[in-house]
Amino acid sequence: MKIRNKISLTFILLLIFGVTAVSSYAILFIRNYLLEEGERTIKSHAEWISLTISNAWDDDVDLDKVADIQNVSGYEIVIYDEEGGLLYASISSGIGPDPSSEIQGVLQSQPTFLINSAELDRIYVFSRFQIRPGVYQLIRVSREKELIYEPITTIRWIIYSGMFISIGLILLVSNLIARYLSKPIMELKASAQKVSEGKSNGVTISDRSDEFADLAMSINSMAQQLREDNERQAKVHEQQSRFFEDITHEVRNPLHTIMASMELLESGRLDVEKQRRYIQNAKGQAERMSSLFKDLLTLQRYDSDENFIQSQWFDLHRITSHLEGIYLDEFQQKGIRFIIQKTPCRVLADAPKIEQVLDNLISNAIKYTSEGEVSLAYQVKDKKVTITVSDSGIGIDEEHMANLFDRFFRTDKARSRDSGGTGLGLSVVKSILDAHGTEINVESSLGRGTKFWFQLTAK
Ligand code: ATP
Ligand code: MG
Repeated sequence: MKIRNKISLTFILLLIFGVTAVSSYAILFIRNYLLEEGERTIKSHAEWISLTISNAWDDDVDLDKVADIQNVSGYEIVIYDEEGGLLYASISSGIGPDPSSEIQGVLQSQPTFLINSAELDRIYVFSRFQIRPGVYQLIRVSREKELIYEPITTIRWIIYSGMFISIGLILLVSNLIARYLSKPIMELKASAQKVSEGKSNGVTISDRSDEFADLAMSINSMAQQLREDNERQAKVHEQQSRFFEDITHEVRNPLHTIMASMELLESGRLDVEKQRRYIQNAKGQAERMSSLFKDLLTLQRYDSDENFIQSQWFDLHRITSHLEGIYLDEFQQKGIRFIIQKTPCRVLADAPKIEQVLDNLISNAIKYTSEGEVSLAYQVKDKKVTITVSDSGIGIDEEHMANLFDRFFRTDKARSRDSGGTGLGLSVVKSILDAHGTEINVESSLGRGTKFWFQLTAK
């Protein structure tokens, strides 16, 4: 059933129930009132009739005249002698209560007596009057109860016709109200349908500032939230599958190389020099896999471990001196100048992880520089130290800048693999610096060199 019809029906049922209850009570009240009024009137009329009869005739009751009074007044009249013997009755009034000795007794002290009419169809009143000095007679005046209740029919008719007019009005008004109330619901339903079919981004509702407008806003923010969640999930899913593809790829290649080297070594046909080369080759690939898993572990801990970073005050020159020791030979072999700062500088950070960052940046610099220099420098200003690793190498094309820190990203895949890169180094750098609440910056120009820098808290 439509909401509009439900509202109308509710109003109508309430009205019918209300009107029936009120009118039943009112009719009951009016019936009682009319009965009391009728009894009071018939009593006073009975007194009036008996007075008229006692005054009109000196001797005895003129029964013809009684019949006239009966016709004019509309009451039925019966006359008894003092002992209750019947003196006059019209044909129709023969039935009904006779004046019992109890009634006669009561009439000695009061002029009229009303019979309790609760169980009767008529109202009966007895009255005693003196017809001659010392001689009394009794008169019984009665009337049908239904005649007294006559106005109720009219009242009932007024009530019910009022009710039907009200139902008509209610149908009209409730229809208008329901139309007004259900309009925004219909609008919401229609636009929610469009959202679910993907034809619209949110529900709209016209010219409203009430609860429906709030509802529309809630639905929209919910839909927005769901959309964002879905997009995020799809992205995570895509990233995950790409991640696993890359790992498989990165592990499979060195494994093949190691297997091939092993088979050749096993054949026993290689001279000593070749044997040394193949063993070196297999070792290099194993080291590459080991560093790949080290990077993966760092990234995995960054993703899941809340205590990934343990910051402490330490001196930066400890790290730079250590790195100098590791890389000096390699730089000399390549004929590149390595300028490294070793002045004391207290910083608050996770020392081993900062060493990992600088190690990655220097290893990149050396990998992608064939002549010139690589430098590692730092400068303190306003309790911040800015650490810079720069080189005079091949540089990075502008188009790669946006993806440079993505996991497994390499500008030139084939070349990088030759030189041993897996594309995880910079994403590890970014994760570690993110966890320190600082960011990595890069500036590069093709053929001229690259500069990476970041800031840490210093004294
Ligand atoms: P990995 O560090 O995992 O062994 P990788 O060095 O190839 O491998 P990243 O360190 O993440 O990976 O660097 C990503 C890519 O960015 C590199 O493949 C390289 O193309 C480019 N790149 C990084 N540093 C430099 C640099 N100093 N000069 C030129 N290109 C760079
Ligand atoms: Mg690298």
